[in-house]
Amino acid sequence: MEIPIVTTDVVIVGSGLAGCAAAREIKKSGKDVIVLTKLHPLRSHSGAAQGGVNAALSDDDDVELHMFDTVKGSDYLADQDAVELMCSKAPETIRWIEHMGAAFSRREDGRIAQRPFGGQSKPRACFAKDRTGLTLLQTIYEQAHREGVAFWDEWYVADILYKNGKAYGVVAFNLRDLKPTIFNAKAVMFATGGYARAFKINSNAHANTGDGLSIFARHGLPLEDMEFVQFHPSGLAGSGILISEAARGEGGRLYNSLGERFMEKYAPEKMELAPRDVVARAIMNEIREGRGVGPDKMAVYLDLTHLGEAKIMERLPELRDLAITFLGQDMVKEPIMITVTAHYSMGGIPVDINGHVKQAPNKLTEGLYAAGECACVSVHGANRLGANSLLEALFFGRHVGQNIVEDLEKGIEFQPAAGSEANTMLEEIEFIMTNNGTEKTAKLRQELQDTMFENCGVFRTEESLKKQKEILKELRNRFRNIRIDDKSKTFNTDLQEAIELGHMLDYASFIVEGAIARKESRGAHYREDYPNRDDENFLKHTYAYMDEEGNISLEYGDVVLGKFEPQERKY
Ligand SMILES: Cc1cc2nc3c(=O)[nH]c(=O)nc-3n(C[C@H](O)[C@H](O)[C@H](O)COP(=O)(O)OP(=O)(O)OC[C@H]3O[C@@H](n4cnc5c(N)ncnc54)[C@H](O)[C@@H]3O)c2cc1C
Repeated sequence: MEIPIVTTDVVIVGSGLAGCAAAREIKKSGKDVIVLTKLHPLRSHSGAAQGGVNAALSDDDDVELHMFDTVKGSDYLADQDAVELMCSKAPETIRWIEHMGAAFSRREDGRIAQRPFGGQSKPRACFAKDRTGLTLLQTIYEQAHREGVAFWDEWYVADILYKNGKAYGVVAFNLRDLKPTIFNAKAVMFATGGYARAFKINSNAHANTGDGLSIFARHGLPLEDMEFVQFHPSGLAGSGILISEAARGEGGRLYNSLGERFMEKYAPEKMELAPRDVVARAIMNEIREGRGVGPDKMAVYLDLTHLGEAKIMERLPELRDLAITFLGQDMVKEPIMITVTAHYSMGGIPVDINGHVKQAPNKLTEGLYAAGECACVSVHGANRLGANSLLEALFFGRHVGQNIVEDLEKGIEFQPAAGSEANTMLEEIEFIMTNNGTEKTAKLRQELQDTMFENCGVFRTEESLKKQKEILKELRNRFRNIRIDDKSKTFNTDLQEAIELGHMLDYASFIVEGAIARKESRGAHYREDYPNRDDENFLKHTYAYMDEEGNISLEYGDVVLGKFEPQERKY
């Protein structure tokens, strides 16, 4: 089969905030850029973000305080040079997107309104009601379009062209008709978002299957700090659909079945506005000790009734709708039932401060970049603070786009691709379409999600993690015996879901192996058998590599420290 080869300066995979921000910068500079996305850009998960985007804007806030909160929130694992860059550029980033048309909610004096979020010393999250992500995404997508960025919607990227430390394109197929195409470019950027779909209860869209990470890992590239998965304290009971931290930021209170405002025990100063890892563990602890609410006692109450209907409708209308639709509970009239939900990936594709992908802790690739949630730069370390991720995606998306332009101007050599380089993807498709096994994607995925949540969730032990390692081994074997029913070429979601499951099985192994090896508790990674942070042995980043048999090996890299010395984290 002759494979079409499309050439361009830059190919970007992903059209969320990070991908769109980079694409706009690149196109504006006069370079050609193609954005490939398996979804329509406005369905990218950035559009689901509700609560806000951080910047030290107000008179009583400052950049250094934002930096300190971020580093402390990260349990001192964040790289402080990257944190400094992001926080110092945050005010400019907000002005940039505002001047392009993002309609933020306002204070009475006309300035951008800001709400408190967990672990922050000041109200710092700029917001557009509880539709912040959608407002930002619509703005940046519109502006990227205005510059003439070429969006190839509903194209699934399955492989990168990468040899000897250099990337020169990607291999993709059209979801409409399975038509394969090679995109051959001087520079390749991944902005493929997060991967919390590997867990049973999660707040993520169906598309958040971490494809980018596994695609890289299959080329022997490392993934960094994968053991750090954020469990958000407030997902709707049962479904895990997110009730943004904005609800607690506006004054929401948490109660157990005894009517106790239990955060008094766990974080007496910050209460419900402690960072997410602290609040999530507190909720799970209440549930484990029998003080949960709801039919199966697996939830706690989030009470917003004292805010009154007017404030809820002004600040949290979307959240109210979500709770009514999916839970049948109206937060204006009664407390709603919430529970922890897998939410965000602190780890990911290791990059330097300018978005260059690393092939080892101190070695960069050429022509390969990543930004947004799929990347680990690392500004969140072991635990991300709420409203820092939209900032990361917007700021680093733009910044990496600018760096790509700079690198192109210095000269990145174009390496031509051959049609045969699509073979890995074609073989993967052929295998899934024709394999005559007995295993179903949905069943394997369910088992993966159930067991990851159970054994590699908020609380972890050596025993639970080793059990999960064995389960993953078995699931990977069973995956080889897969069979799909739909053999057509038109929007074959059976095929897509099977490919995505392959990715989920791959990166889940990275999460588990990193968690087994990290014999300490730090941020979102809580080991019941090692409940303390151990800076002497583990103040370092995990770099994990997968071999062809799927075995993972680990090495460690330095954390970039700076003005904030590690100290005990109390709230
Ligand atoms: C419910 C929810 C609420 C949130 N609220 C907040 C908040 O209030 N504040 C905050 O700071 N953060 C929030 N976050 C986190 C934040 O929204 C995300 O981390 C951020 O938007 C990620 O942006 P991104 O550009 O990296 O990826 P995304 O917006 O997820 O985009 C990923 C893109 O990659 C594409 N893609 C993926 N795989 C492939 C493939 N194989 N081929 C082609 N395309 C592919 C997708 O089509 C998509 O366009 C929230 C997250 C969730 C889940």
